[in-house]
Amino acid sequence: MSATPSRRNVDHLVVGAGFAGLAAAIKLDEAGERDFVVVEKDSDVGGTWHINTYPGAECDVPSQLYSYSFALNPDWSKVYSPQQEIWAYTRRVAEESGTLDRFVFDTAVVDARWDDEQQRWVVRTEGPNGVVEYAARTLISGSGGLSEPRLPDIEGIDGFQGEVFHSARWNHDVDLAGKRVAVIGTGASAIQLVPELQKLLAESGGHVDVYQRTPNWVIPRNERSFTAIEKAVFRHVPGAQRALRTLVYGTLEARVPAFARFPQAMAAVELQAKRNIARAIKDPELRRKVTPTYRAGCKRILISNKWYPALAADNVDLVTDPIAKVTGNAVVTADGTERPVDVLVVATGFYVTEPPIAQHITGRDGRTLADVWDDGGMAAYKGTTIHGFPNLFQIVGPNTALGHSSMIFIIESQVRYVVEAARAMRRSALAVVEPKQSAQDAWTAQVRRKMKPTVWQTGGCASWYLDKFGNNTTLWPGQTFTFRQHLRSFDLDKYDVEPVRAPQPREKVSS
Ligand code: NAP
Repeated sequence: MSATPSRRNVDHLVVGAGFAGLAAAIKLDEAGERDFVVVEKDSDVGGTWHINTYPGAECDVPSQLYSYSFALNPDWSKVYSPQQEIWAYTRRVAEESGTLDRFVFDTAVVDARWDDEQQRWVVRTEGPNGVVEYAARTLISGSGGLSEPRLPDIEGIDGFQGEVFHSARWNHDVDLAGKRVAVIGTGASAIQLVPELQKLLAESGGHVDVYQRTPNWVIPRNERSFTAIEKAVFRHVPGAQRALRTLVYGTLEARVPAFARFPQAMAAVELQAKRNIARAIKDPELRRKVTPTYRAGCKRILISNKWYPALAADNVDLVTDPIAKVTGNAVVTADGTERPVDVLVVATGFYVTEPPIAQHITGRDGRTLADVWDDGGMAAYKGTTIHGFPNLFQIVGPNTALGHSSMIFIIESQVRYVVEAARAMRRSALAVVEPKQSAQDAWTAQVRRKMKPTVWQTGGCASWYLDKFGNNTTLWPGQTFTFRQHLRSFDLDKYDVEPVRAPQPREKVSS
């Protein structure tokens, strides 16, 4: 790799080509902010929907809502679309947007540093073109909270002699037929892939051991295919598909009060899940093992008609004794039982509250975002901008994720805010916008206050929503339309700004 990187000035550098980065590219382009580059470490657009190819991967939010508001798709095959279809959708939207000429694939951000002199982010990337350094007015991170696999820290796992891979990095070269497969984890990914493994291995005489640390509440999934007539209506009847989308949106939003203010209402969900268990599982001991003891909603509520039947199948064992270690060819539980295994699938989630990209972003005072957040937990003004990190916009930032609806609604809200910021900077000839510490602190305090009574904070479980301080720095604690309302315009008065330094550097001024 070349020691002297090639350098390029751009107005905006977007990191990641998933739903967030792609929306940012499209909306910047529409706003006339055309001087941008999107760098993506993977080989194509689609983000999580390109990377997660495990068997059974499907969306658990209805596709009518889990799609861009500006690119409705009348051709969704089912209520909950499969991964390949969602990925193809993002690819098509990208192609039709005319922005793909500014996407650079297989390229990772290795370092991003704020340069006060230049009033720009200096971003070092590595990819097929070697090392390329961008000097960007703004840095827009769409790197995603669920992108970096979290591998379990289990004694001996590195010495395992068989195949081992994470659910988000499925190894399709491994022939699973007739094998003994162990799956560690029972989250959203595991409940989709285990039923597929169960079927495949039943046909070939194989076996699945599922290692559960904590059971999840799993309710039935109302799934079906759209008929040709429905698709024709979506395509040809003006407003029909948008009306359905609005209905889905409203139905999901109607559940927010139960999550956010009246967790006791979650008893209804628990009843639904218990019926789901009773329908599929006859063995009282297995029923007991899969029934959670915390309030539904505390962890993400999962939806599946296949999970409990798969656990009840003859070729599946649910193991709830804690894993003690992994040997060269077996998983050993705390009670001393050794279960031989050929393939180990770790479905153990992602680094959410310590996003790895934060280690690569260094702010105004020379500290990385990871260091800053390590001190007090993730925080950002309106979940998007961060004091000490001028002109950085984090899409799907702290307290923007959802436990009840489509992240694309949030992403579009944030992208609109970013575009408004770019417009404001251009209009007022500003080189720098940085949220005031006081504004960020007030926002964070408000979010924490709203989070306090929610089931996500009080439900009595450990979840990936919570950070090491026990704070929920992941989810938005309310209705999504409230979030959108907060971000409807760029509130310059909450920012310290600097004019463009031309030709002489000038002092920082407060707006
Ligand atoms: P996850 O929900 O974080 O689940 C990880 C699982 O691994 C949990 O059961 C966890 O147990 C277990 N685990 C972690 N470390 C372990 C260890 N050392 N030993 C034993 N068990 C361990 O991860 P995920 O299933 O990949 O899902 C993450 C998120 O991605 C979801 O919540 C959802 O937002 C999204 N997702 C969406 C879809 C979809 O739309 N279809 C599909 C997949 C994922 P504990 O519960 O005890 O921690």
